[in-house]
Amino acid sequence: MPHNPNKVTERLFQSPSKYIQGPSAFHNAAKYLEPLGKAPLLTCDAIVYKIAGKQLIDSLQAANLKVTYAEFGGEITTPEISRLQKIAQDNTSDFIIGVGGGKTLDCVKAIAAALQVPVASLPTIAATDAPCSAVSVVYTPEGHFDHYKFLKNPDIVLLDTSVIAQAPARFLAAGMGDAIATHVEAKTCRQSVNPGGGLPAELSTAIGEKCEETLFKYGKLAYEANKLKAVTPAFEAVVEANTLLSGLGFESGGVAAAHSIHNGFTAIEALHALLHGEKVAFGTIAQLVLTNSPTAELDRYISFMLSVDLPVTFEQMGIPNVTNDELRLVAKFATAPGETIWSMDISDKVNEEAVFWAIKGADAAGREFIRRTGWTKARV
Ligand SMILES: [Zn+2]
Repeated sequence: MPHNPNKVTERLFQSPSKYIQGPSAFHNAAKYLEPLGKAPLLTCDAIVYKIAGKQLIDSLQAANLKVTYAEFGGEITTPEISRLQKIAQDNTSDFIIGVGGGKTLDCVKAIAAALQVPVASLPTIAATDAPCSAVSVVYTPEGHFDHYKFLKNPDIVLLDTSVIAQAPARFLAAGMGDAIATHVEAKTCRQSVNPGGGLPAELSTAIGEKCEETLFKYGKLAYEANKLKAVTPAFEAVVEANTLLSGLGFESGGVAAAHSIHNGFTAIEALHALLHGEKVAFGTIAQLVLTNSPTAELDRYISFMLSVDLPVTFEQMGIPNVTNDELRLVAKFATAPGETIWSMDISDKVNEEAVFWAIKGADAAGREFIRRTGWTKARV
């Protein structure tokens, strides 16, 4: 049964007001950020400050913006949001700029929502589809998941691809793992309300299709370019697919089993070193198994994931000896009440047992593909 408890009949599409991406785009940051206010609070962590933050602040100050800099502590927690919020209030900041990864960007969305001021999201990696979305994930000070905040989309999302190309290619690949799930998931929950609270519009389906097409066309090329820190057209296309297309696609299209299985995997301590998109990639194969996809379709996704070093077997995930008990726990978490797996059109055929076997089936499909094709990791 699709998930639409309040019998919503409206289609809903939401997005940031403006998205800008290009090489050295931070040089033009003042031009894009000026319309938001005159005195921003800018936050990033110490590493990002050295890579891009300092230069960005200098260029904004040169354009007569009164920037207050506050270092981000590294974890998005309720006390950290309050601390930065107070700095913004003390300095009468009229908008907030976040520079960095998903946690930094989620944090500035929360600060801006509390202060009711505009927010600019400036990602420095293309590892997830968080920068465009209205959602923030808040953690406890111990680093465990605490709660989701459903806020508003950033006013501006600005990416400097020269900065993003400096990050390890593994981040781009993880972003592709998150992005490849977008269309696979949205296709299976067209009758359910999306994270924005409405029904998916035709546009979100078109975005999901374009996201997937871009990854299949340019994913491998972009990954190899990133290893050489080269900003090529393929790299630009994939950064956009990971950030904009995937972000809009999931938020208005819906999320399904791949993300639930990802959430289930967080129960296994040994997987904590994996990036979000790496677990979502495996979850995507598991969802394809759950929906009974034919071999040719599975092959297409598995071959793509292997081409960018995303894991398709337990061994590649770093858990070669995972037990059935552990996998049953993953399936239990993945099918908890409120999980996105219940948005699927086939959710009345889904239960913990089916998900357990789908996860085992994904590993089997990955291993079988590797055996059949003789795939080996390229030594370059
Ligand atoms: Zn995701």
